Amino acid sequence: MRRSRPPITVDSAQADVRERWPAGRPLTGAQERLLAAACADVSTDAAALIDSATDWWPLALRWARRGEVPARPGAVVRPVSIDEVCAVLRVCAEQRIAVTAAGGRSGVCGGAVPLRGGIALEMGGLDGITGVDDVSLLVDALAGTRGADLEATLRHEHRLTLGHWPQSIDLSSVGGWLGCRAAGQYSTRYGKIEDIVAGLEVVLADGAVVRTGSIAGAGPRSATGPDLTQLFVGSEGTLGVVTRARLRAHPLPPVERRAAWEFDTFGNGIDAIRRALRRGATPAAVRLYDAEEARRNFNHDGVLFIALDEGDEAVVDAAMRVLAEECAGAAALSSDPVDHWFQTRKDVSALGRVVEMGVVVDTIEISASWAQLPGLYAHAVLGLRALEGTVAASAHLSHAYLDGACLYFTFAGLGSDPADDVWAEAYYHGAWDVVMRATLDHHGSISHHHGVGLVRSPYVSRALGEGFDVLRRVKAALDPNAILNPGKLGFE
Ligand SMILES: Cc1cc2nc3c(=O)[nH]c(=O)nc-3n(C[C@H](O)[C@H](O)[C@H](O)COP(=O)(O)OP(=O)(O)OC[C@H]3O[C@@H](n4cnc5c(N)ncnc54)[C@H](O)[C@@H]3O)c2cc1C
Repeated sequence: MRRSRPPITVDSAQADVRERWPAGRPLTGAQERLLAAACADVSTDAAALIDSATDWWPLALRWARRGEVPARPGAVVRPVSIDEVCAVLRVCAEQRIAVTAAGGRSGVCGGAVPLRGGIALEMGGLDGITGVDDVSLLVDALAGTRGADLEATLRHEHRLTLGHWPQSIDLSSVGGWLGCRAAGQYSTRYGKIEDIVAGLEVVLADGAVVRTGSIAGAGPRSATGPDLTQLFVGSEGTLGVVTRARLRAHPLPPVERRAAWEFDTFGNGIDAIRRALRRGATPAAVRLYDAEEARRNFNHDGVLFIALDEGDEAVVDAAMRVLAEECAGAAALSSDPVDHWFQTRKDVSALGRVVEMGVVVDTIEISASWAQLPGLYAHAVLGLRALEGTVAASAHLSHAYLDGACLYFTFAGLGSDPADDVWAEAYYHGAWDVVMRATLDHHGSISHHHGVGLVRSPYVSRALGEGFDVLRRVKAALDPNAILNPGKLGFE
């Protein structure tokens, strides 16, 4: 798999690369030999270790400017088969070596950072489609398959699509999507990855293999006990390593429709989308930008709503008609803003430039019920604006469902001295705290699709309540020596 590099990286040729969290005990020579016997591609090359020390977490981009990486692994292990994954995990279980799985390293929360050293298990070698059932619309893909490659093969060779279009489709992999409960930008029609997945093949901490759902031979909507597939979805590599997934596909959509409206308030826009979904319309993409984001991203004055649907003509036309009826009180616009969004939707070139200027910037996606969304939005944005140094605090509604939606906040802050890292980190964590607390106070979910990683870990216990204790017991049962992605998902 091609490596995706964040916009700011540490020069791996640099002799004095520092670690934010030094990993402690390095691997012994004997452990390296055991790993090499388990997997043909094991590297302890300094450049490979630095490359595997981070992901796209924006705080780590700031650290990279001063030659610092979050945490270096002791070795980078690149399996190309499930047998190699099993053999590596058996060695790691016996030797108590930490294992941090990584796909495209496009995670934005530090999830793939090898916090406790050990090995970085780079999954890109398990790549490709291994089966297509066009009758049942099921596709098997290996975990390291890059999203864009998977979608291109499905489209061109099978006339199918997953309909899963995360903005990071060029950077991310099937295993990473499942790890983080990813969402494509068309999730209102096609669902998130947890709706798309029908079964998994997972290697557990002791090297045993478990197959779940449709891969284990179950039919759809099985009532044979709890759904073990969903146990691993969102587990961020802490309960097992995903090697293969069975995914639900769709025929290529024959038609596409676009529309846009301007609302007088963000709240009125939220309410129109809610009413449309309540009537059963599920247009693929519905995106409502508050006035600040509409100005920044579209050079448009006013609250902007863009919608796009694709699929069977009769279904799409009905969905867009319902949407238009519910937007009757808003000003209809040309489809120009939708076209602009579509053309620029993967462009994140500004991120590196802004971080280089010393601006502290990040995005935070959360979800909440319709009843809570307007209050949560106001609470979080006002809280961010009240922080000293804030230069931008805004949000858009990015994914919508029958019961609620995802709000995607952006914040940016600048201190009096852009090079002051102490101020920058205090501001960064303060901004996160504002949005996390506002979300919890409004009974929302602290993540909708980026997952927990490092940055949300302190909030997981409050978010899950007594459920967190159950999750801890599951973790202890499946990974008794806590070797799988230690330090993540709030487990420490
Ligand atoms: C520009 C940009 C845009 C983005 N847009 C979106 C978006 O629209 N929607 C969205 O959902 N996300 C988005 N993201 C976030 C990121 O792309 C997703 O979280 C993605 O799912 C991560 O996939 P990855 O392969 O890069 O995983 P990684 O970053 O490598 O890993 C993510 C987590 O999954 C675990 N993991 C990886 N592979 C496996 C495996 N085989 N088995 C078990 N655990 C594993 C890792 O340990 C880690 O905890 C965006 C990121 C960027 C940089």
